[in-house]
Amino acid sequence: MHMPEPDNDVIERRDEICATLRTIIPADCVIDSIESMRAFDSDGLSAYRQLPLAVVLPETVDQIADVMKWCHQNGVKVVPRGAGTSLSGGALPLADAVLLGLGKFNKILDIDYDNRCVVAQPGVTNLSITNAVEDHGFYYAPDPSSQIACSVGGNVAENSGGVHCLKYGLTTNNLLGIEIVTIEGEILRLGGKHLDAGDYDLMGIMTGSEGLLGIVSEVTLRILQKPATRRALLVGFEDTTSAGKAVGDVIGAGIIPAGMEMMDGLAINAAEDFANAGYPRSAAALIIVELDGPEVEVDTLIDRVEVIMKNAGASSIKVSQSEEERTLFWAGRKSAFPAVGRISPDYMCMDGTIPRRRLPDMMIRMASLSQKYGLRVANVFHAGDG
Ligand SMILES: Cc1cc2nc3c(=O)[nH]c(=O)nc-3n(C[C@H](O)[C@H](O)[C@H](O)COP(=O)(O)OP(=O)(O)OC[C@H]3O[C@@H](n4cnc5c(N)ncnc54)[C@H](O)[C@@H]3O)c2cc1C
Repeated sequence: MHMPEPDNDVIERRDEICATLRTIIPADCVIDSIESMRAFDSDGLSAYRQLPLAVVLPETVDQIADVMKWCHQNGVKVVPRGAGTSLSGGALPLADAVLLGLGKFNKILDIDYDNRCVVAQPGVTNLSITNAVEDHGFYYAPDPSSQIACSVGGNVAENSGGVHCLKYGLTTNNLLGIEIVTIEGEILRLGGKHLDAGDYDLMGIMTGSEGLLGIVSEVTLRILQKPATRRALLVGFEDTTSAGKAVGDVIGAGIIPAGMEMMDGLAINAAEDFANAGYPRSAAALIIVELDGPEVEVDTLIDRVEVIMKNAGASSIKVSQSEEERTLFWAGRKSAFPAVGRISPDYMCMDGTIPRRRLPDMMIRMASLSQKYGLRVANVFHAGDG
């Protein structure tokens, strides 16, 4: 990773900068001791570590605006941070920048069932949104595998997706409105409680901008009604090429599953050791397909997917017979990260985007690279959307 040369003039002004920040926001919201800043020195890409100039943990939007304004006017960079689960170094501090943590913005502000939306502060975790509305039969669709920890502000900054994005879209497709604090310290509201607000799509520019254009200080998220039925299939294959092709066959038949994930042999066994989900240990590849909707529609689609999988060469097919079994099918997939951590003292996580039709080629190439360099590779991915 290329890191820019730090601005030594700013680093030399550190004590003065921290003292000033303590006059702008409550003094205990500024952290500058080395020991305390260690907790913020990396994100999910933990191969890279860097202490920031200082950490600020504002408590109100006005405080965020005051920090941004002062930093902008005094040539001090700011790196925003949500929960620090990003895998790309997005929340990695810079030696000459203030790290602005949003951990104190952890409240759900409004649940509006009439408009089917939730207004939340940016530090609220992704899963908390579904937890807050599921008793009323609603949920928030984008579900990154880190949903128990990652923040909705971070989701906006990364335009995060997950298993259900194949059918229900990424964060950008489920975001109705945001409040932002610009780099200059101005507070702006974009969008609102309804889809397709007028004017230029500035919210679209903010979504996925990785904290480079401003601080997301509030989000309004669309919630969906929970489908009447959800069922999943576990499909084993004796070779990864046929499995990769089967993914395209399902989509090509006009079926958009609620989720379609794939794992290869190493990942299957690591996940099975961890979660006892009933995965076929001898399979070279496993596809998990979830279908949701009215019961009669789901039953029909399950039959159609079974036929497609058999024609593609599936060696085993298991269909969930209860909600508990469906959850168990997913338990292995959702624990893929810690499961791989158990088979290797260290590992590197790499994300790629592969056109769906090229999945078989990618699997072959990964296997040959793995053999050539003597490095084990466990493949786990959102197969349906590449
Ligand atoms: C085990 C694991 C599984 C994962 N699975 C997925 C997955 O399935 N799909 C997926 O998309 N991602 C996944 N991720 C990556 C990560 O969890 C997401 O990108 C998540 O959205 C990051 O949220 P965060 O709150 O942790 O953000 P951080 O890591 O704190 O920050 C991420 C970026 O957003 C910026 N940022 C954070 N908050 C704000 C804010 N309020 N305003 C402006 N900028 C901000 C930061 O500067 C940084 O550039 C996974 C990570 C892990 C560790």
